[in-house]
Amino acid sequence: MPAVKITGIDTLQVRIPLDTWAPPPMFAGRPRTHVEGLYVRVTTDKGVTGWGESFGSSGTTVIAAFDNWIRHLAVGQDPADTALVPRIERLLHGLGRAGPVMHALSGLDIALWDIRGKLEGVSVSKLLDGPRRKRVETYASLLQYSGNVEDVKRNTERALKLGYRHIKLHERTPEAVAAARAVTGPDIPIKVDTNCAWLPGEANAPVLGMKPSKPYWVEEPIWPPEDFESAARLRKATGVPIAMGENATSPSDFRKMIAAGAVDYVQPSIVKIGGITQFMRIAGESETAGVTCVPHAFFFGPGYLATLHCIACKERDAPLERLFADVAHVTYAKTVPDVNGAVEVPDRPGLGADPEDELFAKYKV
Ligand SMILES: [Mg+2]
Repeated sequence: MPAVKITGIDTLQVRIPLDTWAPPPMFAGRPRTHVEGLYVRVTTDKGVTGWGESFGSSGTTVIAAFDNWIRHLAVGQDPADTALVPRIERLLHGLGRAGPVMHALSGLDIALWDIRGKLEGVSVSKLLDGPRRKRVETYASLLQYSGNVEDVKRNTERALKLGYRHIKLHERTPEAVAAARAVTGPDIPIKVDTNCAWLPGEANAPVLGMKPSKPYWVEEPIWPPEDFESAARLRKATGVPIAMGENATSPSDFRKMIAAGAVDYVQPSIVKIGGITQFMRIAGESETAGVTCVPHAFFFGPGYLATLHCIACKERDAPLERLFADVAHVTYAKTVPDVNGAVEVPDRPGLGADPEDELFAKYKV
């Protein structure tokens, strides 16, 4: 009999209105007008509650994964058992090694780390043998303005005024990158996320076109993202640093992209790849191999806090992604604020903060 037992798992879907200061970008064929969040609340018989987050855009498919396959395997089990999520993953392997099942297990894993910290009265960073750093810089991750250079300029300026010292664009044209560079001057790192914009034969020209603007990296230039050989050829031919990994589906994908010479930076997404457990494994293996882990974190909830703790504890420092727009409710705005482009790593038990009741009262679907 475990000393502590999981008594329930609730899935809370939220949709929070978003103002990007430009026409809304498209995502999966629809205008992105809201931040989509999928929060996972795990309760125990000792009164301790943990919070996790799954990939929000997967929405009700993650809820269905919990309802159909995961909840009955986790309820009654010991939340302190670090083998629990790997055991469920193996049991469910035939249902898809990526997608809703893994997104759901990512949220469960994060919630269990939160519970473990709260039970022991220590932060997740402490559980991960850290933190190595108590403050992490954030980068302003601008949304996609579809090549509109005026939107790029105005919003790059806005980010600099708020104190950000790193910028990411979601643009695909040399002109858009040059527009941001003209605003920042030479010293601000500009990351350029192209979201799998090009087939292998198409990528060289636009990436070389961006090169004079000195992109810090070009992210996911190649469709499909698992074509590591083409990414490696592009990297070699252009000499422009490449980042990828938010669409990788396992630690072995990261080993393969590194072995292929495809990447300068790896970007596991904690809400998709299996939570804190898999994230720390990928970060450790990648950085031992000499490739810095700079995670994907285009979300605000427990996954964001989990990513913060992981960055604080992994070998190499890295900036934390911060979705840059006006959001009607910013989770942890008061408890773990992003001030002048940096956040303090909380040392309170677990993740260090719970999402606010107001979030669910106003924006739960
Ligand atoms: Mg990206």
